[in-house]
Amino acid sequence: MGYKLAIVGLGGMGGWHYENVTKRIDDIEVIGAYDIREEVHPHIKELGLKCYSSLEELVNDKEVDIVTIATPNDVHKDIAITCMRHGKNVVCEKPVTMNAQELEEIIEVQKETGKLFSVHQNRRWDKDYVIIKKIVEENIIGKPCMIENRVQGSRQAMHGWRAYKINGGGMLLDWGVHLVDQLLCMIDASVVDVYSDLHSIYSEEVDDNLKVMLKFANGVSALIEVATNCFINQSRWHVIGEEGTAVISDWSCNGQIVKLNTEEKMEWADAIVYTEAGPTRTMAPRPSETTINLPLPEVTSDWTDYYKNIVGVLDGKEKLIVKPEECLRAMKVIDAIFESHAKKASVSCNI
Ligand code: NAD
Repeated sequence: MGYKLAIVGLGGMGGWHYENVTKRIDDIEVIGAYDIREEVHPHIKELGLKCYSSLEELVNDKEVDIVTIATPNDVHKDIAITCMRHGKNVVCEKPVTMNAQELEEIIEVQKETGKLFSVHQNRRWDKDYVIIKKIVEENIIGKPCMIENRVQGSRQAMHGWRAYKINGGGMLLDWGVHLVDQLLCMIDASVVDVYSDLHSIYSEEVDDNLKVMLKFANGVSALIEVATNCFINQSRWHVIGEEGTAVISDWSCNGQIVKLNTEEKMEWADAIVYTEAGPTRTMAPRPSETTINLPLPEVTSDWTDYYKNIVGVLDGKEKLIVKPEECLRAMKVIDAIFESHAKKASVSCNI
């Protein structure tokens, strides 16, 4: 077995890393874990892992090559810096930090120590995202104009530390970070304008429902929407391009593409839709011969490539996929989103 990994924070996501690395990554062995809650320690022992009694004990274990940090967000920075200073490579959960400034501190230590530092932006491997990225990159519906990237639920679920500002709770630092990261990886232009609308519908102190508009220097606009109080879902992705529209409706990637049929040069008969209060020509449906329906493109995507890349980088054979500098860009956008919310106005930027 190539590399030995220890986990800091064996809660929901730490448990997920344990299970998935153990079952699916050949070259990494999970050997231990540290959790600040002593009640988790018997579980760590049951899994057959070394149960560290402190972070200090973990980072002084010479056997450990990689540390995966899966604690609440407010302690990511200090743990990451301690680990790298003790010679460990680090995989950190998202959001990597509470803001861009904290990540800059981490990057300084990463450069000083030369250790690997990456962020678990696992949603780059979600099939829905990979499909939309392919549609955009291969120009399948022409140049994209408006991209809607949303996740919606109605469970009003802001449990535990996620309900507290001090821990980095709230949906912007949760799903919001994933959706920003996806858009930055897909659109090859800087973000020049940010407008946000964050709501706390049922939470005392953090955002639980949000909409954000990003404008990119190449003219593309993107809407990010995260809802935990939405009882009728809209589509997961909705992309309007100059020559067509692409939709992914749900997590199962049901959806379609409708494109202009450029072969069909027909004269259209006028069509008018009447409501009781008036007519509209603009919103009348197109004749079906003037469009073509396409299935979504086939893609392959495998989350295990995330940790396989970590192994490849440590072996000196690959370049890091999720780079700290990319995450810094995302955190700068997150900072601008909070700023726009505080100012109740859009924020001009060049990120
Ligand atoms: P959780 O509350 O289930 O687990 C956190 C664990 O960390 C707990 O067991 C807690 O006791 C422990 N902990 C807290 N402070 C600690 C410290 N100082 N040192 C050691 N252990 C400490 O939370 P979660 O849902 O597992 O979230 C953890 C992290 O994973 C967060 O950063 C979250 O944003 C991220 N996350 C990522 C994804 C993803 O898909 N990438 C999904 C869920 C959560």
